[in-house]
Amino acid sequence: MEIRLENITKIFVQKDKSEVIAVDTLNITIPTGKLIGLLGPSGCGKSTTLYMIAGLLKPNGGRIFFGDEDVTDTAPEDRGIGLVFQNYALYPHMTVRQNIMFPLENIKVPKPEAMIRAQEMADLVGIGELMDRKPKELSGGQQQRVAIARALVKKPRVLLLDEPLSNLDARLRLQTREEIKRIQRETGITTIFVTHDQEEAMSISDEIVLMDFGVRRQMGDPQDVYDKPENLFAAKFLGTPPINIFDGEIKNNNIVLAGKNIGKSKGSDQKVVIGIRPEGFIVNEKGSFELDVDMVETIGRDTSLIINDPTRENNTFRAIIETKHRIKPGDVLKVNIKKDKLFIFDVDLGNLIN
Ligand code: ADP
Ligand code: MG
Repeated sequence: MEIRLENITKIFVQKDKSEVIAVDTLNITIPTGKLIGLLGPSGCGKSTTLYMIAGLLKPNGGRIFFGDEDVTDTAPEDRGIGLVFQNYALYPHMTVRQNIMFPLENIKVPKPEAMIRAQEMADLVGIGELMDRKPKELSGGQQQRVAIARALVKKPRVLLLDEPLSNLDARLRLQTREEIKRIQRETGITTIFVTHDQEEAMSISDEIVLMDFGVRRQMGDPQDVYDKPENLFAAKFLGTPPINIFDGEIKNNNIVLAGKNIGKSKGSDQKVVIGIRPEGFIVNEKGSFELDVDMVETIGRDTSLIINDPTRENNTFRAIIETKHRIKPGDVLKVNIKKDKLFIFDVDLGNLIN
């Protein structure tokens, strides 16, 4: 089922009477059956957005639609949503089976049927053998699977996950995120996955919605957002190591960095912010740009170079090159800059300039 947010705004009044605009006229259309990653820094309004979709918070303005149905004033229990939080929120005194069955008891599903449905959900999330255990006898990853089974047992129209992997250690986080992707594929349920972790969002999502200060900054296929950031925020938020940022200018349709022409632009003459992805430097003996190598880190698949920044004193940036180039600290490396890894943004708003 498609979810549509139309001009959704949420304002919180703080204790000192000051107002925080947590979500600011947000417009998002979430396609049926997709997994959408709601991504942005801490405090940007992700959870607030999710809880408005769930009905736990009421927007100050705007409408929320599930398909053609306006659910803005619909109570949470009547929306058909399944919700999973970071901290599992399982009942500690109940077994796994009782935890998963609990939402069905509330809506008076007969016990034999509830038992069958709970077992189906447990099997789906891969904890079918653990039904008689208590939560404390499970690993964090297993507990989160119980929480997901419990959210799915009522066959919700929408699955909402708020940083569901944050409490897990690195390995479990990777494993559980693959599991969530599989469960979402198998059930085909429209899912919104909130995270501040760009790698997590990019790897799991069909589309990401990138938010900052309650505003949508870009939405799209994760790779497209990485390849074609519409603004400096999007360019900086995606990618590890992050994009390198320099002060530069457009002069006579040339992009000028540290006195050198590094590319062409149709923009008018102005100061600009230049972004170059670390993988955008191509080693070439005839390269037109020189990198002054400060440090070298070889990390398996590729080599990460720390380069002295010609535009700022005591500053460095990163270049990622193939390991076959044997580079030493102190080398001066000739490179070309890949056109599709180079972006320029206007200084005031940070919007992409072509
Ligand atoms: P995120 O989930 O992206 O970290 P939140 O949606 O939790 O961000 O919060 C967005 C903003 O709204 C933050 O500035 C936060 O401090 C504020 N906020 C969230 N909930 C409340 C609340 N109940 N009362 C006052 N301010 C809140
Ligand atoms: Mg949050």
